[in-house]
Amino acid sequence: MSKKLSPDVEKRLFHNVFVCMKCSAKIRAPPEKVKKRKIKCRKCGSKELRLKAKERRGLKA
Ligand SMILES: [Zn+2]
Repeated sequence: MSKKLSPDVEKRLFHNVFVCMKCSAKIRAPPEKVKKRKIKCRKCGSKELRLKAKERRGLKA
C-alpha cells in the first residue's frame, strides 16, 4: 500500500529526475540536456536515462 503524495511533493521528488536504464541510479538533470544526451550516469557512464515519474505508475513499491 502506498501513500498518496500531493502533486507538490510528487513534483519535487520526480521533476527532472531520471533513472539510469543500466544501473538504476537516480540523476537529477534538466530534460533538454538529457534529450541531447549531455547527461551521463555518474555510476556506469550510460547515457540511457528514463524519466523517473513515468515508471512510478503501476509500480508497487
Ligand atoms: Zn548507470
